[in-house]
Amino acid sequence: MIFDLDHTLWDYDKNCAEALSELYEIKKLKEKGIDSFDNLFEVFMEMNMQMWDQYDLGIIQRDVIRYQRFHRILLSLGVDDYNLSLEMSSEYVALSPTKKNLLPNAMNVLDYLRAKYNLLIITNGFDDIQATKLSSSGISKYFDSVVTSEKAGHKKPAKEIFEYAMAKGNYQPNDVIMIGDNLNTDIKGARNAAIDSVYFNPLKKQHKTDLKHEISDLIELKSIL
Ligand SMILES: [Mg+2]
Repeated sequence: MIFDLDHTLWDYDKNCAEALSELYEIKKLKEKGIDSFDNLFEVFMEMNMQMWDQYDLGIIQRDVIRYQRFHRILLSLGVDDYNLSLEMSSEYVALSPTKKNLLPNAMNVLDYLRAKYNLLIITNGFDDIQATKLSSSGISKYFDSVVTSEKAGHKKPAKEIFEYAMAKGNYQPNDVIMIGDNLNTDIKGARNAAIDSVYFNPLKKQHKTDLKHEISDLIELKSIL
């Protein structure tokens, strides 16, 4: 079984909020003109998601996220300070992956599945950062292999990253199922590689994709599989 990591197992939003709220204090952003943490969080979530979607589509590279993300966020909050944005960027990248929150029932379901299946991760991310997330949240031990887009040289939804993962474990498309929260990278990606998938949609977002399996709580995996 193949899992996505961010927003599927590792609670990206909660972990990101914790890291940002620490940075909000450390960097004294209130004194610099950002009235509340909520303003920062809201703008971060919106711009961050846009940039990662552009990254997934191959429109921008990692460096743009690294060097421009916080600058754009601060500018849109009325703070024009490029050096501050660079400091925040490197501190955020160091701090956020050390956060431990998982999505509800993640550990419970991994415990259950581990006894029956080989578990893998396929993630559009970077080796060092994703490895830190897995170890800080205590779930590294469940996975036989972790395939990042950095390692595979391809990003989901490209079928090559799925083929890379399957070749590594000597699996066939029929042997595996992909579980992920993103209709493009995870679900369309799995389809590109002729793999079945389960769409994890905890907020029950509306969509028009024709799906075989959709769940809003990871615990439902126990009854699907
Ligand atoms: Mg995800």
